[in-house]
Amino acid sequence: MIDAAPTQARTKVTAIAGDGIGIEVMAATKTILAAAGARIDWEDAEAGAEVFKRGIGSGAPQETLDSIDATRVALKGPLETPIGYGEKSANVILRKYFELYGNIRPVRELPGVKTPFSGRGIDLVIVRENVEDLYAGIEYLQTPGVAQCLKLMSEPGCERILRLAYALAQAEGRTKMACSTKANIMKTTEGMMKRVFERMAPEYKTITPSHVIIDNCAHQLVIAPEQFDVIVTSNMNGDIISDLAAGLVGGLGIAPSSNIGDHAAMFEAVHGSAPQIAGKNMANPTALLLSAVMLLRHIGDFATAEKVEQAIFVTLEEGRNLTGDIAPKGHAAGTNAYVDTVIGNLGRASSQVSRSYSNLTLPKWTDRTWHHSVDSRELVGLDIFVESEREPATLAAGLEAAAEGTAFGLKMLSNRGTQVWPDTGGHSFKVDHFQCRFVLRQHKPGNYGPEIAELVRKVSAEHRWMHIEKLQRFDGVDAFAKAQGEN
Ligand code: NAD
Repeated sequence: MIDAAPTQARTKVTAIAGDGIGIEVMAATKTILAAAGARIDWEDAEAGAEVFKRGIGSGAPQETLDSIDATRVALKGPLETPIGYGEKSANVILRKYFELYGNIRPVRELPGVKTPFSGRGIDLVIVRENVEDLYAGIEYLQTPGVAQCLKLMSEPGCERILRLAYALAQAEGRTKMACSTKANIMKTTEGMMKRVFERMAPEYKTITPSHVIIDNCAHQLVIAPEQFDVIVTSNMNGDIISDLAAGLVGGLGIAPSSNIGDHAAMFEAVHGSAPQIAGKNMANPTALLLSAVMLLRHIGDFATAEKVEQAIFVTLEEGRNLTGDIAPKGHAAGTNAYVDTVIGNLGRASSQVSRSYSNLTLPKWTDRTWHHSVDSRELVGLDIFVESEREPATLAAGLEAAAEGTAFGLKMLSNRGTQVWPDTGGHSFKVDHFQCRFVLRQHKPGNYGPEIAELVRKVSAEHRWMHIEKLQRFDGVDAFAKAQGEN
């Protein structure tokens, strides 16, 4: 985090207006912040559709990356990836480039914004891991008809996001932390976040920890959202429940967010570029404006943050000059009229009580490659993933023959995670992608390089394989999952 700005200091902030309504909502936000006396010097930078069209495949030119590197804080509008220009999203590239590992999404009932949940007192924050999990983007077609996406989760990745969630809870005076995972099914990956959470939670004595399975979390968010204070979760889970939660309090036009890392922080509205209404003086700038309020708190300007936030609350509460997405039917005003009204309300206090915020301080992570050492590691076997249209028993007979005379024997075959050989009596549909589990016939110390090579050579003489996984034990504990039905 950057240090709190002394009252008179000015802070340089990179401004990326982005695409579509980004242009209007950024202009609106800058105008309101200037009227509120925010001591920010904007450094305008480009990213998005036009940049892709110039042939820059990342969607963000080097000057933009350099600007964020220097200012370490950015306000960003929505970015589009035009079809036919690059496969990757500029948003994801910016998040990964600056290792913005924490996505923070406050979800709060706003005065005057009527929803089926109004009056329930929803005031929670979702802290989503932002760079690991399925979003590492490591994907393969394993066979022409079977696809795989690697779900990578790491201990420091889990610890960082959990510490960020706890630091946020402390900075905002929050008292409950719900860690939400799918650890009951993905015991190794999602289970890692749960285990690190359970290890760390006792360090934070003033915060009550709980674990909630992600599907139940989605259910609870709809049934009783007011029970939550902070929810911390992995990338894919957080992606889904944070949009769900935004919907509870009024939707995309008012949902702010931040992306936090050790090197930089980027604040952005949750919504996209809304091309249907772009340039029509119809966009609601509240989401970007509330993101700018988060930015002001991040740079230590709590007073201006409070002033802008209260002016927004008063405007929403009084319900005059609201944009079409939140105005009562037939009373929609334009973006410009809304901006003028918010400016007119600067200095007024709403009936919405604000929480007291303090600086968010995070432990710094080393830039060196992280490594977890163990006292013992032992090879147990090898999974060879094979493409085959044979029936399991025929395939197994072929693989047993291939393994004859090697250090490994065939233990079982699974198809999409369910054991299909030896037969369990189940009724699995089968595709041409088999996990073929070989185990060592006899254990002896060593790395088994030549034995593995021999098995792979013999299997590949007859079978088309596409990937191999070592079955290991670290400090005596299995480091692999069993297939459904495997014993
Ligand atoms: P969108 O958020 O742009 O629009 C969804 C709906 O919400 C539309 O009806 C839109 O008019 C409305 N809406 C959104 N923001 C609004 C606002 N501030 N005021 C009033 N109404 C608003 O989502 P989409 O249509 O799925 O995406 C459009 C483009 O934006 C796509 O190219 C997508 O990739 C991109 N996108 C970017 C980001 C980002 O940069 N963070 C996020 C989402 C989508």
